[in-house]
Amino acid sequence: MNVLLVEDDPRIASFIQKGLRAEGYMTAVASTVRDAVGYVTADDVDLVLLDLGLPDGHGEEVLLHLRRLGLVLPVIMLTARGEIADKVRGLELGASDYITKPFAFEELLARMRVALRPAAQPTAQELVVEDLRLDLLTKVAWRAGRRVDLAPREWSLLELFMRNPTHVLSRTRILSRVWEFDYDPGSNVVDVYVGYLRRKLNRPGLPPLIQTVRGAGYRLVPPED
Ligand code: CA
Repeated sequence: MNVLLVEDDPRIASFIQKGLRAEGYMTAVASTVRDAVGYVTADDVDLVLLDLGLPDGHGEEVLLHLRRLGLVLPVIMLTARGEIADKVRGLELGASDYITKPFAFEELLARMRVALRPAAQPTAQELVVEDLRLDLLTKVAWRAGRRVDLAPREWSLLELFMRNPTHVLSRTRILSRVWEFDYDPGSNVVDVYVGYLRRKLNRPGLPPLIQTVRGAGYRLVPPED
């Protein structure tokens, strides 16, 4: 279980991190909006503990980023007393819960357990990256407003890319996620299916979306900076 703790106060961060380690949670700490956004995009994070007042911005920006990416993971806001408008706005943006500082560690653990229950997980209905949209219920994709019909493996591959935009996915990772154990590790099935997807997603006049990263794998759209 990987927890991302977004907190710029070193005393609070250290208190929470020590407590979580003792409970067996792997914890990474980010102290800025920028770092937090980098973590949630690149790493497998299961839950975010989110302070709202950060040196380079508001914790709400992290929620907006998750929402844009279609990443659905539980977020518990760590708020100060009186931040009522912030709490409401955070919940509207998809945060699961909040806890008001100062809090007892036991209460934080209890809220985390609730947020991590499968029934409590928020569910996104669609993923959106650039001009690409994927409906998770009907399993239909659109590029720049035009429908793209996909075979089941193509659909799973596109979903994996869209859940990890800008992140380089190795062939091994793609194989293990999309084909699970039903593959020969030496096969070129990933390259073949990336080729299928590219042909289906390409539109004259629009930039290609899936980039080959030599020696590393593939990624959907390069990072902005
Ligand atoms: Ca703060």
